[in-house]
Amino acid sequence: MRRKTKLIHGGITGDEQTGAVSVPIYQVSTYKQDGVGKHRGFEYSRTGNPTRHALETLIADIEGGHSGFAFGSGMGAITSLLMLFKAGDHIIFTDDVYGGTYRLISKVMNRFDLSVSFVDTSDTDKIKEAIQSNTKAIYIETPTNPLLKITDLQAVSGIAKENDLLFIVDNTFSTPYWQNPIDQGANIVLHSATKYLGGHSDVVAGLVVVDSAQLAEDLHFVQNSAGAILGPQDSWLLMRGIKTLGIRMEEIEANTKRFIEFLQNHPKVSTIYYPGLDSHKGSEVHSKQARGAGGMISFDVGSEKNADKLLTNVRYFTLAESLGAVESLISVPAKMTHASIPAERRAELGITDGLVRVSIGLEDVEDLIEDVGQALDK
Ligand SMILES: *Cc1c(COP(=O)(O)O)cnc(C)c1O
Repeated sequence: MRRKTKLIHGGITGDEQTGAVSVPIYQVSTYKQDGVGKHRGFEYSRTGNPTRHALETLIADIEGGHSGFAFGSGMGAITSLLMLFKAGDHIIFTDDVYGGTYRLISKVMNRFDLSVSFVDTSDTDKIKEAIQSNTKAIYIETPTNPLLKITDLQAVSGIAKENDLLFIVDNTFSTPYWQNPIDQGANIVLHSATKYLGGHSDVVAGLVVVDSAQLAEDLHFVQNSAGAILGPQDSWLLMRGIKTLGIRMEEIEANTKRFIEFLQNHPKVSTIYYPGLDSHKGSEVHSKQARGAGGMISFDVGSEKNADKLLTNVRYFTLAESLGAVESLISVPAKMTHASIPAERRAELGITDGLVRVSIGLEDVEDLIEDVGQALDK
């Protein structure tokens, strides 16, 4: 099956009994047992629910893994994943991980004695230097937010294998349509499905895919024990979103390329961060491991004042956090998603006050270009 076909015909599709073409929403908590301990595959919906199971089978299929798991949010998924570890274990993280992940690690998980190092994983030597005797995993994002930094999946997978570490990849930005980390040696892939997989700004969810039966057993144990599951309605919405992932990503990428041409020719725009640009650091590695560069762009408009003007004068870009929706979104990382990072550290990272991040949507790109053009020229 090719990729767009798999989004529609992969996993479990429809309903055998009635012929319904979409998987029904099993809005149910418990299941009648035929005898004590004799059930028909489902006993209680925290443990398993047919609608959630269909979604979990689908995401495992499209990521090319062993099993999938659906959680109530991306953070619920990451929290559950971290519960695979124990006090005293050490994990290496990409230094510019998603802000919510950073908060979870540094302000919640620290209470449980999980030790961590944040390193620039785009430099694989730094990963090797950070490995300790109690290191158990490497957790990365590629591309990262908001500077779209790239980490070499195969190189990290090699380091992980040599040192007997789990390799975990947050694949939210690329989506399984463009990048499949398990094919390149990752053991666990996760998504904030709130973003591109849902795609319509109407559901909050997290998905995880693991590459082995042992990890599947371990993670199902945590999912059932900790209970951060996704409900049947949201599981259904997510499956609906995933069916159009391919066509959305193709169109978003085409829009993004046109939008970048416009940015490149605008005098108020300086640095542009986009992994599809040859000038972008890591673009070569990205093109080796991903089939597309996505719809996230960051660019510098020179000052906080210019950024403010842009954000208050656009009409079609919605000023909001989040990404990956049908509607284009715009934000200023220094004042929004990355406001909690000290100004000095932000400067070191290159997150200036004039840095603007956009998530390109499915509007006519001419409208998006005209919109940003008039706002920049104000
Ligand atoms: C949004 C996001 C998350 C968190 O997901 P939620 O669904 O908001 O809980 C994790 N990682 C990345 C890269 C994200 O963009």
